[in-house]
Amino acid sequence: MSIETKNTQVNVYTDFHLQYISGEWKKGDDDSINTNTNPFNGETLVEIQQATDKQLDEAYQAASEAQKQWAKQTPNERAAILYKVVSIFDQRQDEIVDWLIKESGSTRIKAMVEFSSARAITLEAASFPNRVHGEIRPSNTPGKENFIYREPMGVIAVISPWNFPLHLTQRSIAPALALGNAVVLKPASDTPITGGLLLAKIFEEAGLPKGLLNVVVGSGSEIGDAMVTHHVPSLVSFTGSTSVGKHIGELANGGDYIKQVALELGGNSPFVVLKDADIEQAVKAAAFGKFLHQGQICIAINRIIVEDDIYDDFVTRFVAHVKTLNVGDPSKIDTAVGPIINEKQVESLKEKIAKAQDEGAKMLLSGEIKGQVVPPHVFSEVTREMDLSCNEVFGPLVGIIRAKDEDDALSIANDSMYGLSSAVFTQDMAKGLRFARDIKAGMTHINDISVNDESNAPFGGEKNSGIGRFNGEWILEEFTTLHWISVQHTPRDYPF
Ligand code: NAD
Repeated sequence: MSIETKNTQVNVYTDFHLQYISGEWKKGDDDSINTNTNPFNGETLVEIQQATDKQLDEAYQAASEAQKQWAKQTPNERAAILYKVVSIFDQRQDEIVDWLIKESGSTRIKAMVEFSSARAITLEAASFPNRVHGEIRPSNTPGKENFIYREPMGVIAVISPWNFPLHLTQRSIAPALALGNAVVLKPASDTPITGGLLLAKIFEEAGLPKGLLNVVVGSGSEIGDAMVTHHVPSLVSFTGSTSVGKHIGELANGGDYIKQVALELGGNSPFVVLKDADIEQAVKAAAFGKFLHQGQICIAINRIIVEDDIYDDFVTRFVAHVKTLNVGDPSKIDTAVGPIINEKQVESLKEKIAKAQDEGAKMLLSGEIKGQVVPPHVFSEVTREMDLSCNEVFGPLVGIIRAKDEDDALSIANDSMYGLSSAVFTQDMAKGLRFARDIKAGMTHINDISVNDESNAPFGGEKNSGIGRFNGEWILEEFTTLHWISVQHTPRDYPF
């Protein structure tokens, strides 16, 4: 089958039932099958025979071999591949967006946001080969010169989640490749295509040499540990839950081979509305920042905290606004809230709804759960101790907490083991900046939602939300390593 694109006719990608190892598309050797379904209508999209440990090893060996030559390519040669990937993104935009809708249950709005973010980080990464530089430092040893080279890490293991699969995979693999590394990627089991195989097709079409990018589809519990403990990768770039992230961190440093880890983990973003805020704007922001992708975003608003003076007004307007959102088929242009990724997640949301009521929260908005579509649920009179406040919800449920005053709002906002993103609404910029700086988080947005990601701004968290930062020069440093080379120009006097 072919599709019309802006300027030309291209064949849509096929054969997503295969693994991509050593530059070849091949069947998985494991007995188990990954049945990839559309979370809205249950349709089977593809059945993938999963990979074995042996195939994972093959991928690592291929990556290790290919990386040696890749690191020697000129910066412009590496940049050219990334620019080509950007142009394929543009050419195949409709095809990519369509996969995001049918595989990950993205609404059209979310799919476009995700497509744009993945494209932006690819463009940013295309600049990396020419931004890498070393240093010459003075030496305190007579006759010596110190050179500091910035080198690729070698092979990077990438493990990515299902919620923003295309972007959260691409934000690791595009910088990794641009900086002269090779990659072995394990996408999430719910999104093997948008989280991996589709990107492999794009990089292959862009002319990336064989072996540099490998996509191994297998379950986290089957090949997950081996992904981390294998001797080849020197860095594991993991994005996912805090519980699995802790396990990865332990594995990476508890086995025979010490590895660096970059961990982008869970969140519990507070959205604070101070009494002098533009309430109407705050209501619209809260709805978008909470319900985009059904709330399944690590930086989605998890707690709405509102100062007492305006609490009732905010709650009334918020509920009225959320009632207007269209819920259901994600492929429809005006759908705001689509399906939840899988049945297990739906069950966990049902438990959270029951628990919120048991704990005394007031349910102001609810609706019938049909299949995997969970309509927005809004609770008021939520306290900081309740489950809805303490834990990451990852669904279209939200609790609104009453704060006595600004200090109380700050104390509630910081009362979390997570510290990823956050937001505060106020019309007083000095107050907003002061408040923002007192929040213990990697990211805080004043008069905007907590859901922001820009390819040239540092993305990452504090506390149990992880280690490291994505984007811009921060990922450039994380995906490279330093080599100090000294030259002794004149013979040195040794004591013996
Ligand atoms: P998850 O931790 O269950 O899975 C993430 C990835 O880890 C998947 O590819 C999974 O197959 C793999 N995995 C599972 N067990 C493994 C093991 N033992 N060894 C190796 N790999 C293993 O997370 P998820 O459900 O896919 O995603 C949702 C979570 O991710 C949420 O907590 C969310 O906040 C977090 N997240 C964080 C960010 C961020 O940037 N901080 C972004 C998106 C999602």
